[in-house]
Amino acid sequence: MSIPVIDIRNVSKSFEIHDVGRRITACRGVNITVHSGEFVGITGKSGSGKSTILKLIYRSYLPQEGEIFYHSKAYGLINLFSSSERHIINLRRYEIGYVSQFLHVIPRTSARSIVEKAALEMGADQVSASEKAEHLLTHFELAQELWDSYPSTFSGGEKLRLNIARAMIKEPRLLLLDEPTASLDTHSKRKVWELISQLKDKGTTMLGIFHDLEFMGELCDREHHMSAGIMEPINEN
Ligand code: ADP
Ligand code: MG
Repeated sequence: MSIPVIDIRNVSKSFEIHDVGRRITACRGVNITVHSGEFVGITGKSGSGKSTILKLIYRSYLPQEGEIFYHSKAYGLINLFSSSERHIINLRRYEIGYVSQFLHVIPRTSARSIVEKAALEMGADQVSASEKAEHLLTHFELAQELWDSYPSTFSGGEKLRLNIARAMIKEPRLLLLDEPTASLDTHSKRKVWELISQLKDKGTTMLGIFHDLEFMGELCDREHHMSAGIMEPINEN
């Protein structure tokens, strides 16, 4: 078996809701190991703790309990919860990609430069960054007249496709996908499917949340199901 890229051990996260003096358990005793090149799907009802797990990996949240080990290209095996801010910033820039269902647009930056900038960060030269960016914008069928405009005026679906293009152009080692296809039509979902499939062929490790796996089923190596903060593996391909 190949090396684990991500190894989640007994992770629990809860939130104190101060105004009502209550504690919400988002996830409890979660274990997942994702090996190099695997694509693991997480399913489960809304509120079952799925996004919390991705945010813990991205270190947007710190847990009360447990550890997450990440096999970094730059730093070797590291514990994500005790890594320095500098390491986390570098990991987010060069190794770990995150696509959420929420859209963060950079003000006064054209769609084209957002995607190009991501490729430049990974060390591509200007010519190949432009080529790759155009290729992806075309793949996601973002109309050419939008390429040089600011995405603040784009529709939800256009922003989401841009968001996905920006994450995918980097071909990160580990890609976290939080319901990336949630608001897309079937045709656009298919485009995302194709890109995920290509990244998988290139060896990208992926952990993705999907409402159901119907669409991603054939790409997924394994499915974990979340129910009220508890995770259970439900099948192994
Ligand atoms: P899912 O992605 O499966 O819909 P989440 O992981 O977003 O679920 O949330 C799990 C639970 O944790 C929910 O009850 C949610 O309200 C709560 N939760 C998540 N993030 C926070 C937060 N930052 N503050 C308070 N509660 C949170
Ligand atoms: Mg969620």
